[in-house]
Amino acid sequence: MKAKIKFPESDVKSGLMPCKPNGSGSHLLGKCPWCSKQDHFYVQRSTDKVDKKGNNATGNFTCKKCGEGGRIKKLLWKLGLQHLITTKSSGNIFEKLGKIEKRLKKKDFDDSFSSAEPPYGYKRVKHHWYLEQRGITKEQYEIYNVGTTKIMSKWKDYIFFIVRDEGKDVAWVARHTADRDWINEENAKRTEQGKRKLLRYENSTNDLSKLLLGYDEITENTVTVIAVEGAFSKVAVDKKLKLYNNEKIKCVCTFGKSLSPTQFRKIKGKGVQKLIIMYDGDALGDIKKYLEDYSSKIDLYGTRLPDDKDPDDVSLKVLLEAIRNKKRPLDYKMTELGRL
Ligand SMILES: [Zn+2]
Repeated sequence: MKAKIKFPESDVKSGLMPCKPNGSGSHLLGKCPWCSKQDHFYVQRSTDKVDKKGNNATGNFTCKKCGEGGRIKKLLWKLGLQHLITTKSSGNIFEKLGKIEKRLKKKDFDDSFSSAEPPYGYKRVKHHWYLEQRGITKEQYEIYNVGTTKIMSKWKDYIFFIVRDEGKDVAWVARHTADRDWINEENAKRTEQGKRKLLRYENSTNDLSKLLLGYDEITENTVTVIAVEGAFSKVAVDKKLKLYNNEKIKCVCTFGKSLSPTQFRKIKGKGVQKLIIMYDGDALGDIKKYLEDYSSKIDLYGTRLPDDKDPDDVSLKVLLEAIRNKKRPLDYKMTELGRL
């Protein structure tokens, strides 16, 4: 006979769905994952008892509201935790519940975000002189949902990329099409007149830190994702590596030199195996942080382009070399830390 294991009180309190022991302490009492009713769902705690079929009853559950019931295996499936099912499924329920607790805590992260409609009057375009000048391909117009609006004067010189998330338009990024010198001159005038400055880049002001430009391009066949900071870095990587013809590798833009837990979970959630973070040099501190936080959950690599260049400014050869020279977390820490 297996010795009875004492259930740690902290696990009981914050544990399953969330749960507490019932009056006699024999069961955990919590929220039913089938009908969502609170406090009618019983899970048998560790016991030597056997059920009617002669199986150890540990982990058997029943809901007094909806009548759902069964053995621990079924419960784990329902919770999406089938990987915790061992060959001896009546094994150590406490260990399993501990894992469930951790998983549920992870789910507590708020991955919800607010959406922003495309700007008023936005229309898709298939050609734009500015993008043509930058050598963007016809596939890329399609991928980024490139568009313009003629209705609002504020936006008439901008081009827009629309960020899609599960097929929905959720955010946008805009870029002014004039060159830097012209914008600087214009801004000098505007400053004199006390007017608002023109920005080269503008984004919708919703939760971009929870979104990725390129998210919907990742498919079940995607193995590797390259994360870059800006929309035009993505444009450059897509174009140079022709990623629009390659389902295995995709590039996403994280809208800055950081990868939020939500962004990471989104990438991981698509079943991606390798994530290569390619931010410019001064983001090294951040990269190291990710490597420490996330390295156990995905094959994570860091890489940087020479002289802190953007993907836009380097040749295909240099870009490929940087990807080839990507470093595993540990190597990265050693070589890059050595440099500091
Ligand atoms: Zn129920």
